[in-house]
Amino acid sequence: MSEQQPWEPGVIARFLTVARATVDLSHDMHLITDTQPNLTIARCGGTGCGATHTEKWADYAYRTNNGSSGADTEASKWAQAHAETCRALPRPAATQ
Ligand SMILES: [Zn+2]
Repeated sequence: MSEQQPWEPGVIARFLTVARATVDLSHDMHLITDTQPNLTIARCGGTGCGATHTEKWADYAYRTNNGSSGADTEASKWAQAHAETCRALPRPAATQ
């Protein structure tokens, strides 16, 4: 059993929860009409959890040119905090 599962494309950071599920950070687009990523989303991969947290880059644009690093920082904080408390088990690696 390996914890080194390949990261999904676009995943920029990964946190391991206390139950060994993963919380992934990635960049995404807010609207279907958006052509460039403009938010950072954290998604918990724990079975039955599915918690997500999004940070819009625009909310941090005053700090950096497009706000992505500020949003990454805040989303990372959420992911870290969630990873410390989430008890959802990791999704089975094999298909059912
Ligand atoms: Zn969770």
